[in-house]
Amino acid sequence: MSAGVETDTAAFAMSEGELERVRADFPLLARPLPGGRRVVYLDSGATSQKPDPVLDAEQDFYIMRNAAVHRGAHQLAHEATVAFEEAREHVAAFIGAPSDELVWTSGATAAINLVAYAFSNATAGRGGQAAQRFALRPGDEIVVSEAEHHSNLVPWQELAARTGAVLRWFEVDEAGRIRVDQAGEVITDRTRIVAMTQVSNVTGAITPLAPIIARAHDVGALVLVDGCQSVPHLPVDVTEIGADFLVFSAHKMLGPTGIGALWARRELLEAMPPVTTGGSMVEVVRMTETTYAPPPQRFEAGTQAVAQAVAFGTAARYLGELGMRQVAEYERQLAVRLLEVIGGIEGVRIIGPTDPADRIAVVSFVVDGVHAHDVGQYLDDHGVLVRVGHHCAQPLHRKFGIAATSRASASIYTSFEDIDALGDALGRVRSFFG
Ligand code: PLP
Repeated sequence: MSAGVETDTAAFAMSEGELERVRADFPLLARPLPGGRRVVYLDSGATSQKPDPVLDAEQDFYIMRNAAVHRGAHQLAHEATVAFEEAREHVAAFIGAPSDELVWTSGATAAINLVAYAFSNATAGRGGQAAQRFALRPGDEIVVSEAEHHSNLVPWQELAARTGAVLRWFEVDEAGRIRVDQAGEVITDRTRIVAMTQVSNVTGAITPLAPIIARAHDVGALVLVDGCQSVPHLPVDVTEIGADFLVFSAHKMLGPTGIGALWARRELLEAMPPVTTGGSMVEVVRMTETTYAPPPQRFEAGTQAVAQAVAFGTAARYLGELGMRQVAEYERQLAVRLLEVIGGIEGVRIIGPTDPADRIAVVSFVVDGVHAHDVGQYLDDHGVLVRVGHHCAQPLHRKFGIAATSRASASIYTSFEDIDALGDALGRVRSFFG
């Protein structure tokens, strides 16, 4: 298991009563689908459902404390600023970071773009001497993997096109695991940045990051970890991982849409040139020159998603109170059941590692002779909600020689009954279309 990701093997079985209490916090799970079927939500990898405390936090902000942050001298502005900055502390603490190392973004995609554009801004000579760490020259190398979500691939392709840098990548093996054995050849003296997912959103595979990060640091490269699918499901501590940047999105971890985070080591944030400029990220502005505020504000130009940030802080606390070791252990049990149920159906093939120790409860599969969209439609007709398509990972699907998969993904509110409902419906798909 990768550095910074460990589950407590001391058995944690969520009792039925505990699971029911958790599920009762998620109002959407109780709404009936058209036709009266219950919601079997197995699409948490795309976006998670939201518990009452998160919904309340966002609404409560608008009802009780709505005001512009960091500006007004009045009481509401003060209360809003306190709530906004406390949320930053909660989210930062959730990943073991100090709050001044956490930048709000609109999501993981925006956070990755922020870092990728910082590199090309430095090339254009902005950001002063320290920013030269971020300057790329033609022939420098950017390293990703074949397993990346498009959000952690396309921004690096664009950076390569802007700077003349070369994009290189780790391949995956037949189970979709990133070929860590390639570290010595893929990461070279020319590598400047390695951008890698900690968990694949298609195969659920956990990347053994430690050897990749060690090799990258040996050659002086920086490492960005895409934590979209790891931070919501595994204990992730930035100190233990030892990377330079971590990105993640609130909406996949019980929080609202429109908010996410970039964590970076303080000295990197100090050196990194800003990308979006304007109000709120400045100290002194004259007609021809401007001095910037210290990080994290330097990277937060314009009015932020304040109510969403506050609710993100509540989501982080909600998960923190459940305990991420317990969350990971419960979801490991869900992964075991998903693998058993899906893997046990004739004519259904799982794409990804079959050992639960190597993965999380995100399971993609193909059904012999039935297109993924038809599978999804049939399951939907039975109240089982999964994602179908390429899941924003076309290169990975191409590698497997398939255009689309169906994907069942769980979260802390998923029950074993949900997985059995998937199994029942999936077991009838081939005869229905046969
Ligand atoms: N990276 C991974 C692994 C993802 O699963 C996702 C979303 O599906 C993203 C990046 C992009 O996240 P967002 O759309 O929230 O910016």
